[in-house]
Amino acid sequence: MADLPTHLIAADTLRRFVADIFTKAGTDRAEGERIATYLLSANLTGHDSHGVIRVPRYVQVLQDGDVLAGQDITIVTEGPTHAVVDGNAGFGQTVGPQAVDLGIAKARAAGMSVIALRNTGHIGRIGDWGERAAAAGQISIHFVNVSQGELVAPFGGVDRRFSTNPLCICIPQEAGQPPLLLDFATSVVAEGKVLVASNGGKPLPEGALIGPDGKLSTDPATLYGPLAKAGPRNAGNGPGAIRAFGEHKGSGIAFMCEILAGVLTGGGTSGPITPGTTRRRITNGMLSIYLDPAHFGSRHFVREARDYADYVKASRPALGVTEVLVPGEPEARTRADRLANGVPLQLDTWATIVATARSLGLSEPN
Ligand code: NAD
Repeated sequence: MADLPTHLIAADTLRRFVADIFTKAGTDRAEGERIATYLLSANLTGHDSHGVIRVPRYVQVLQDGDVLAGQDITIVTEGPTHAVVDGNAGFGQTVGPQAVDLGIAKARAAGMSVIALRNTGHIGRIGDWGERAAAAGQISIHFVNVSQGELVAPFGGVDRRFSTNPLCICIPQEAGQPPLLLDFATSVVAEGKVLVASNGGKPLPEGALIGPDGKLSTDPATLYGPLAKAGPRNAGNGPGAIRAFGEHKGSGIAFMCEILAGVLTGGGTSGPITPGTTRRRITNGMLSIYLDPAHFGSRHFVREARDYADYVKASRPALGVTEVLVPGEPEARTRADRLANGVPLQLDTWATIVATARSLGLSEPN
């Protein structure tokens, strides 16, 4: 990304512009602000793939009626330590935090809880939900899938069978300190990284994609089909797939995400999608486990976790590496940098956001 010219924009200006876009597109102001805040959070933490690059697609699905403004979760079934909740096809940025807050409240009372969230619009960067629980002092584990969103070939296979199925584990730290945060897609790259590459951004790593002939590829057209200069990409148009990360182990985690976030939540797995048919509404499913350390008899959990993280960081760096980082550090550093210096956006990404704004009668910020 550093090699390409970018549009640098102050975080708050970007947030307000994106909030204006969604408000104009049909959400109320509070929801527009919420969507903008979470998309910006992905950019601030360096996950541009899940940031404002999604604005044109989000507006499109809102206009198509595939995601609905102004929804709340409804409880399908619940007990003291669990709930199955329906996101009612609302914005993930609205129903996601509602589901997380339910899990936090139950874990605070009982020590732990499990929340099965289904039928929600795209819930973006899962780290936001881990960070929300960490801010309440809780550990959380999130398994995620995308119903009707198969994009990823399993280990040893060529055909799409999984979505990019992120896994997130987040550990609270002292107030004011960033949590320990593991948050990644179980594919070699998240789909958004293919999207970024298709807009002229960071090229894909070797072996990221696989064609229908079984040959490895780094060409985003493998996923999207022939690429138009700009505009929403449709992963349904490409002939190939993204590969699962970590050979049989990563592929196995992706498989289990489908079972937990797709089958157990009742939201459905990522496939099959019959060739030639239109996909049904694409929704996320998320199975989240919340643990309140106060109930686990470890009075110094946060401090001991920090001590261990420092011990890991004290490992001598390998050749060519300057420093050992623990999960969550890259995000915290990028956030500090981008809040201070602005958010860099690929020129094509910025152009598609501005085009979306103009189509709604808005002009770009000065
Ligand atoms: P990634 O490959 O950048 O990995 C990020 C993780 O690795 C973080 O936990 C980070 O702290 C850690 N990390 C990175 N560099 C490190 C280093 N040098 N040392 C130690 N730890 C390091 O992430 P990704 O797979 O590209 O996923 C990007 C985002 O996409 C995630 O936020 C994920 O939640 C999101 N996502 C969402 C969906 C969805 O359907 N909503 C689907 C897929 C991915």
